[in-house]
Amino acid sequence: MATFLRPELSNLRAYSTPPSDSLPPELDYLDTNEFPWDLPTALKEALAQQYVSTLASHRYPDSHHWPLRQAIARYVSEHSPTQISPHQIAVGNGSDELIRSILLATAIGGYGSILVAEPTFSIYGILAQTLGIPVHRAKRDPETFVVQITEANTLIAQADPPVRVLFMLQPNSPTGNPLTAAEVDWLRQLPEEILVVIDEAYFEFSGKTLVGELAEHSNWVILRTFSKAFRLAAHRVGYAIANAEVIAVLEKVRLPYNLPTFSQVAAQAALEHRQELLAGIPTVLAQREHLYQRLQACPHLRVWPSVANFLFFRLQEPEQTQPLCEALRTQGTLVRAIAGGIRVTIGTPAETERFWQRLQAFLNQL
Ligand SMILES: *Cc1c(COP(=O)(O)O)cnc(C)c1O
Repeated sequence: MATFLRPELSNLRAYSTPPSDSLPPELDYLDTNEFPWDLPTALKEALAQQYVSTLASHRYPDSHHWPLRQAIARYVSEHSPTQISPHQIAVGNGSDELIRSILLATAIGGYGSILVAEPTFSIYGILAQTLGIPVHRAKRDPETFVVQITEANTLIAQADPPVRVLFMLQPNSPTGNPLTAAEVDWLRQLPEEILVVIDEAYFEFSGKTLVGELAEHSNWVILRTFSKAFRLAAHRVGYAIANAEVIAVLEKVRLPYNLPTFSQVAAQAALEHRQELLAGIPTVLAQREHLYQRLQACPHLRVWPSVANFLFFRLQEPEQTQPLCEALRTQGTLVRAIAGGIRVTIGTPAETERFWQRLQAFLNQL
C-alpha cells in the first residue's frame, strides 16, 4: 500500500452490500432489517410537492436541525417519565454517523478504547478500527446471548488505553434478544468514566427503552434511527438522546451540513404521520411470531426468540449455512449469513411465506 496511507487500513475492507443495479428488483430483501412497506403514496406526494414548491435546493440545509430536534424531543418524551429537551437530541446522517461522532469525542488519538460484546452489530468495531481506536471484544453466552459480564469487567480493568465507550444494544443485532435485568444493573453501576451507548435502532418493534433512566445517568447515550420502523432508510436519519453536555460535544465533532434538507423534512413528516406509519408494526410482529413457531418446529435448525423485526437461527449442520444462503438467493430471497447462522428480516406476508417455502425446500433435500 502507498506509504502515505496508514498501514493498519490495509486489512480493512470497504463496507459492501450487493450493488443494487446488479440485482433484479423483484428480489425479497430480507437481509438489512428495513421495513417491508414504502411510505404511503399520499405522504410521498406531499413530500414531492414540498420539494417542488418550497424547498430551496440552492441553499445549504439547516445546520442545527432545530425543528427536527424539537419534533424528535416531543416523540421521545412520549415514552419518558421526564421531558426530553431538543438540547438533548443530536441528529446524524444515519445513526452510523453518530457512532463515529461518539468515537471522535471519546477515544481517538490514543485517549481510549472501546468495548463490544459479540456477536453484535459490526459497525462499532469497524468505525473504531478506521480511527485507530483499539476494540475489546467480550463474549455473549452461546445459549442466551447475554453478555458475559465477569469477562467484560476483566477487559475493562485491564484495558490500556482505558475503555471510554461500551456499545450495547436493545435488542441486540443479529440475535434479537433484549437486555436482561442483570445486564441493565451492570450498565447502571459502570463508572462515569465510561460512556454507555445503548443502541435502540429497533425500539418501535421491541417497545423497550432505557430513556426513562437517562436523567439518572449522565454517561448514557441512546441511539435511534428512522431507517427501520419509520421507513426512511433511503434518507439516512438517526438521532442520539443524552444529557445536553454530551450532545453539545457530538455537535462539535460532526460535519457542518451533515443532513440534507430533504432528509430533515422527510423525518419531520414521518414523525407527524407516525400513527399511520407505525400502524404496520403489529403485522410485522404477528408474522415474526408465526415464522418463529414454524422455525422452532423445524428439526434441522435452532431459532432464538426475538423482540425485533428479524429472527436469528442456526442450522444443525453449520457447513450448510452458505449453501442455504446461495439457494435462497438464486430463488430470490436475500438473507444475512452472520455469527455462524442466518438473520432473516420479517418482510411482507408474501415475502415471509416465500422465504419459508424456499427454506423448507432446501432442508428437505439435506
Ligand atoms: C439498522 C441499525 C442502525 C441504523 O443505522 P442507520 O445508520 O441509522 O441507518 C443502527 N444500529 C443498529 C444495531 C442497526 O441494526
